[in-house]
Amino acid sequence: MAKYTDAACRLCRRENDKLFLKGDRCYSNKCAMVRRKGAPGQNQGRRRKESEYGRQLRAKQKTKRFYGVLESQFRKTYDRAEKMPGITGENLLQLLERRMDNVVYRLGFAESRAQARQLVTHGHFDVNGARLDIASATLNEGDVITVRENSRKLLPFAELEASSMVPKWLEMNVDQLSGKVVSLPSREEVDLNVEETLIVELYSK
Ligand code: SF4
Repeated sequence: MAKYTDAACRLCRRENDKLFLKGDRCYSNKCAMVRRKGAPGQNQGRRRKESEYGRQLRAKQKTKRFYGVLESQFRKTYDRAEKMPGITGENLLQLLERRMDNVVYRLGFAESRAQARQLVTHGHFDVNGARLDIASATLNEGDVITVRENSRKLLPFAELEASSMVPKWLEMNVDQLSGKVVSLPSREEVDLNVEETLIVELYSK
């Protein structure tokens, strides 16, 4: 499985925003963005003014890193978003949100998207009763995600507690270790602080 080798917190500092890549640590005072803001290797307050291209590039990099998606996958997702009816930037974010690994993370089955990806690829989930181990698979409205019978006694599932952060477009049933996509996420329901139009401008050149 391809993955970023940079330390996760450096990515947040580079984007100057919390990307929530390290589970509980991201919500604590140990978060590097709480302790030390600013890009790695740069003195605070001395960042250069960014060009238009720089802003577009940063928006793309930030989104890619937030979802833990590599360049080729991200570009394929963008191409798909462009062919869909509606606004391309919003379609892009919606497709990224609907990824299997992201849904597993959002439901609270995993502490981070990286952990969710690992749980998915290790085959711990069914979708609509059939095993699905493809992290990039796109889920649809009505899909039901369930922890497979043989995995229920394993950590983290055995000690799973209800998460207060499940978004409205998803529904979680901790007792049954299952979740459902009750609707497709709107832009307002995506908690990523990014101007997605900048990504569209970048790829439209
Ligand atoms: Fe980013 Fe803070 Fe989490 Fe590190 S701990 S990955 S800086 S949000």
